[in-house]
Amino acid sequence: MGKTIGIDLGTTNSCVAFLENGEATVIPNAEGSRTTPSVVAFSKDGERIVGSAAKRQAVTNSARTVFSIKREMGTDNRTKIDGKSYTPQEISAIILQKLKLDAEAYLGESVTDAVITVPAYFSDSQRQATKDAGRIAGLNVLRIINEPTAAAMAYGMDKGGAQRIMVYDLGGGTFDVSVLDINNEVIEVLATAGNNRLGGDDFDNCVVSWLLEEFRRQEKIDLSTDTAAMGRIREAAEKAKIELSAALTTTVSLPFLYSDRNGAKHLETTLTRAKFDELTAHLVKATMGPVEQALRDAGLKPGDLNRVLLVGGSTRIPAVQAAVKSITGREPSRDINPDECVAMGAALQGGVMQGEVKGLLLLDVTPLSLGIETMGDVFSRIIERNTIVPVQRSQVFTTAANFQTSVDIHVLQGEREIASCNKTLGKFRLSGIRRALRGVPQIEVTFSIDANGIVNVSAKDLGTGKHQEITLTQSSNMSSAEIDRAVKDAERYAEEDALRKQRAELQNRAEELLYQAKNAQKKLNAVDKERIEGMRKRVKQAMDAGNDRELKAACEDLTDALNACGRYVDPSDMNDDDGAMDADIT
Ligand code: AMP
Repeated sequence: MGKTIGIDLGTTNSCVAFLENGEATVIPNAEGSRTTPSVVAFSKDGERIVGSAAKRQAVTNSARTVFSIKREMGTDNRTKIDGKSYTPQEISAIILQKLKLDAEAYLGESVTDAVITVPAYFSDSQRQATKDAGRIAGLNVLRIINEPTAAAMAYGMDKGGAQRIMVYDLGGGTFDVSVLDINNEVIEVLATAGNNRLGGDDFDNCVVSWLLEEFRRQEKIDLSTDTAAMGRIREAAEKAKIELSAALTTTVSLPFLYSDRNGAKHLETTLTRAKFDELTAHLVKATMGPVEQALRDAGLKPGDLNRVLLVGGSTRIPAVQAAVKSITGREPSRDINPDECVAMGAALQGGVMQGEVKGLLLLDVTPLSLGIETMGDVFSRIIERNTIVPVQRSQVFTTAANFQTSVDIHVLQGEREIASCNKTLGKFRLSGIRRALRGVPQIEVTFSIDANGIVNVSAKDLGTGKHQEITLTQSSNMSSAEIDRAVKDAERYAEEDALRKQRAELQNRAEELLYQAKNAQKKLNAVDKERIEGMRKRVKQAMDAGNDRELKAACEDLTDALNACGRYVDPSDMNDDDGAMDADIT
């Protein structure tokens, strides 16, 4: 068996580490650098270039250069170069291949296994895509772990004692915040939140827009469609941003940026840190919501935190550091290297899995709730967000109609109470259910999330033993914007959703009651039968009129009347434990 490495596959830069005598150590690449730009280029004669060489040639070969492919992971987007189309997994695999080769050259032996990190907020399909990229690159991916968790592992290894820490991770393209509990050698993630489309690239874009505006003001020329000029402006914008982390002002100098018959045009301007902070204030602010949410989900106040760790290159921005300090009330720790700690944590996890590191236990969580659609467009959660993974949970549901022989299982991910407002991960049908009255079949739905955060759903008819399952793969693409919207909507619509859920439950209860009453009537004397019939009518009328208050009262009266006749079985006895499932089952 070859060596195991830990890989931080970043949006902008990647880093590799391995375990040397139980210590995580960063492996320099073939060029001698400790991080490798996550850039892939194809030269005109078809050669693949990766890393700093690809980044250097980007300005003159921008159409054949791929940046920030991590942002596309889990999507169906393709990169087309010279008539060939590449999936995001394939481009990522090209980066992973270089990392693997460089590690092998450094270590002098083959590398077979890897632990790869992803943002905690990566969805199921993004994790799948990352795993696939590893496989394409010829790596056996032992585990996908969350970046902030890896950072905490690297940090927590030599610390000991109980600690509650927050990891604020702002990289090139993603933002994550996690709250963790480190107790001796058990690292437990209490909560995680974030936005997988917010990062240093967005800060660059703000500077790019400002530079374009400056040039437009000075020269009355719009360069936004000039690919070559844009490449240089983008490079200069990132450089200015980085310089402003250390200096209060920086000069952007781009000679011969444009030329026309009036001669060459140059861009020469000064950007102050104050102006940069003003241009990017909304981005810094956008990270604060997830910080508050993670604390809330972990059940902690800022004062409960022992430490705040900053991870990712963009946390070098002074305004980011100030905002984190102000919201947490803590000076962020600077004793871990934000560029290297994630890869080091991944190497440690590799060591744990290969038995080289003893005792360290990692308890990670799932970022969003998972469940199925049940009757009335209700989202029935089976696994709540922030549940420790790996996890397996089952719930028993039943049918909505008499003699139903199949049920459609609609698997969803999200935080809304209303099923159609959440994200569909997949659908499948369980058929061959034994013919029976509604409410009789017992259908057990099981969700499992493995240690990589990958979801498997199965359904089983407990009567016949019929079984059906799916592993959610590429269909589960959920963009960060969607995730973001899901969480924001959930907060905004929480009240409205609760009301809609109550209504759906009331309607379900009323239907069940009408059915029970109809069955009971067969065994009643004429007087009781007529009395119950009157009450059934009242329930029906209230249902048709959509009058919830009247419906509730009518249901209560009918329930009491049925109980008085000794004929009533509380529908909640049938449904509450067993749940109600899908639009065609209850
Ligand atoms: P990562 O994905 O963690 O490698 O972070 C890369 C991002 O960090 C890129 O957007 C870089 O431009 C940004 N970055 C690196 N160094 C600095 C710095 N000193 N100040 C501001 N941003 C930085």
